Amino acid sequence: MKFIGILFVLLASTLGYCRSDNWSKEWNRRHPTWLGIHVIVTTSTGLKELQSQLPALAKSGVNSLVLEVDFGFQFKSRPELASPTGISYDDARSFSDSCRENDIRIIPQINCLGHQSWQKVTGTLLIKHPELDETPGQYPDNEGIYCRSWCPNHPDLASVIFPVIDELTDAFRADAFHVGMDEVFIIASEFCPRCKGQDPAKVFAKSVNDFHKHIVEKRKLEMFMWGDRLLDGKVTGYGSWEASENGTQTAIDLIPKDIVICDWHYEHRSSYPSLDIFEGKGFRVWPSSWKDPDAADLFALKGSIRKGQTVGHLVTTWYAVGMSELPTWEPLVKAFSRWKAK
Ligand SMILES: [Zn+2]
Repeated sequence: MKFIGILFVLLASTLGYCRSDNWSKEWNRRHPTWLGIHVIVTTSTGLKELQSQLPALAKSGVNSLVLEVDFGFQFKSRPELASPTGISYDDARSFSDSCRENDIRIIPQINCLGHQSWQKVTGTLLIKHPELDETPGQYPDNEGIYCRSWCPNHPDLASVIFPVIDELTDAFRADAFHVGMDEVFIIASEFCPRCKGQDPAKVFAKSVNDFHKHIVEKRKLEMFMWGDRLLDGKVTGYGSWEASENGTQTAIDLIPKDIVICDWHYEHRSSYPSLDIFEGKGFRVWPSSWKDPDAADLFALKGSIRKGQTVGHLVTTWYAVGMSELPTWEPLVKAFSRWKAK
């Protein structure tokens, strides 16, 4: 009886795995164009609210969702990082079911490397693991900096961050993961005994490559990241936020080309040279806009007329719109209409 029970469990888990795998493959076949939204959801309540909007979002053309969870999850693998009001495993599974019913692919995200604090509040990771801080003991109350970074060269980092990435992708039955990595201003800091004096581009690339080894090579998932640290802010004219002026840009030649680059530019510009740059290096590009409807419209138009590896359009939200208004949000409607008209 016990043997039959074990067989049943093995069979059920195998079937479950195959279904999940087949769904992902089928989704990719059905959707050569990715029309996505990026939303931050760090609570169980917030996830349920988004879940209720999925049918309306699908109707608006959304077929992909970058779900930035960060540490808003009831992690079991690293309980010290768990948020009590965060998303539970059961919430994630229910949400995943609803996404599949609405033909929406989930790409979970933790913003990695940078963005480990916001204003005076230091994020969960560095509160629980201050030893991973790139600038330990520096900048009290985060005064004088934009955001804290973790140290990509710390020997204990992998054992902390990879289990939570695995837990999130498993809970949401995802075939992809977004590592964030935008706006990293603190890197190869003079205050880090491991990174001090190193080339910021090499340190940044090492971090990307470590993620790639785990996410793509080991877990066989697709990897996504923001593109700003890979662009030269001066040469492109993008400046120091949506591109790099802190020495990380040559990392573009040191990382695998199967990573999908989310190329974010939120303002109306006469040209978007990053599309040529990323495609020229062999990357797939997902142009990403924000709340300015005309800028979103223009960037989507520039992407939609390309014949290369520009995969669609990603609309970021950054709290500029409520969940219930999102399906009819003007930047989304305008940007998606460019691709629908293609
Ligand atoms: Zn370091």
